[in-house]
Amino acid sequence: MINKKTGFNTSMIHHGNPKDQDGSVMPPIVLSTTFERGDDQINPASEYIYSRYGNPNRNTLEAKLVVLESGVEAITFSSGLAAAQAVLHSFQNGDHVIIPDDIYFGVKKILMRLYENWGLQYDEADFTNLADIESKIKFNTKLIWMESPSNPGVKLCDIAAVVNLAQNRNIVTVADNTWATPYFTKPIEMGVDIVLHSTTKYMGGHSDILGGCLVFREVNDRTVFIKDYQKIGGAVPSPFDCWLLTRSLATFALRMKCQSENAMQLAQYLQSHPSVEKVFYPGLVSDAGYQIALKQMHGGFGAMLSILIKGGREEALEVCRKLKMIKHATSLGGVESLIEHRKSVEGDLSKTPDNLLRISVGIEEIEDILSDFEQALTI
Ligand SMILES: *Cc1c(COP(=O)(O)O)cnc(C)c1O
Repeated sequence: MINKKTGFNTSMIHHGNPKDQDGSVMPPIVLSTTFERGDDQINPASEYIYSRYGNPNRNTLEAKLVVLESGVEAITFSSGLAAAQAVLHSFQNGDHVIIPDDIYFGVKKILMRLYENWGLQYDEADFTNLADIESKIKFNTKLIWMESPSNPGVKLCDIAAVVNLAQNRNIVTVADNTWATPYFTKPIEMGVDIVLHSTTKYMGGHSDILGGCLVFREVNDRTVFIKDYQKIGGAVPSPFDCWLLTRSLATFALRMKCQSENAMQLAQYLQSHPSVEKVFYPGLVSDAGYQIALKQMHGGFGAMLSILIKGGREEALEVCRKLKMIKHATSLGGVESLIEHRKSVEGDLSKTPDNLLRISVGIEEIEDILSDFEQALTI
């Protein structure tokens, strides 16, 4: 028996692994979509019937995710946004949702495009300002959605304080913990009801699996509805994706430690570089989120940072072009460092500055990361 307090490495390697007839030490992949029934119509060997309803690889993965986020139940999906949609779908016509004004753009698009005719209302708030969030609460507010750090401003929100606002009013809280990861921040331990991840990012860690998950603080009617949404709605991850993600979780803590240490060094280097106007990283004492980070991030400050290049769009794009090892691409959380000009992806409506570059710091040797920036930033 491994309890929840066991270290990340230990539980991610050992917890939830099935015993099979061959004595496999590591979980095998079970690709069968259907499972034999006994004479009484129930599978005599296991709980499995059909792979959309449940599958050994999904169960192993979900068991590990429960431990990672200190929850009681985990439900996995085929992408982070499928997980986000499952949450939003558990609310109804006339309900009101409060989201950060810099929420991950895809979640906002779900509200704008897919729920346009659904009658789910939403307002945006500045999540660095509690009073602003409170001022947006209405009689029908049912959900407050947090993201910390945010994308691409790397702003922190005070999770415990938002939970306090919400719990007094019976409002459900969701924390998109994709960027902070449970290695640094445990929203459920601060009272958050549902934690969301795009497992595509740090949990997958190698930029080769798309996936999402929700982890719950308690099992209630909403949890049951969302479990049905997974099983009946069918946006499930494949056994292979679950297996690959389970494999990734074995090195999750190692990667996070290395990536955050690299990020800290890169942030300090960039902060003192004459071609850089500003660095957004909660580990810097000068950062607006530093005090909150000390409160709710432990063991490091994550591995995402954004910088403002002196100049404008052209100067920022020039840095992307000149970087040799670090590729200009979207997404984050992989072993490889990536850089992205966010304004180009977000489009003209985006409030992201033209000279902002977002950096996902990988596990390469820090000297190689620094020297790539050194040559790219030399004018
Ligand atoms: C990538 C991401 C998502 C969406 O996840 P997908 O796996 O791409 O669907 C949601 N939230 C955050 C913070 C993300 O970075």
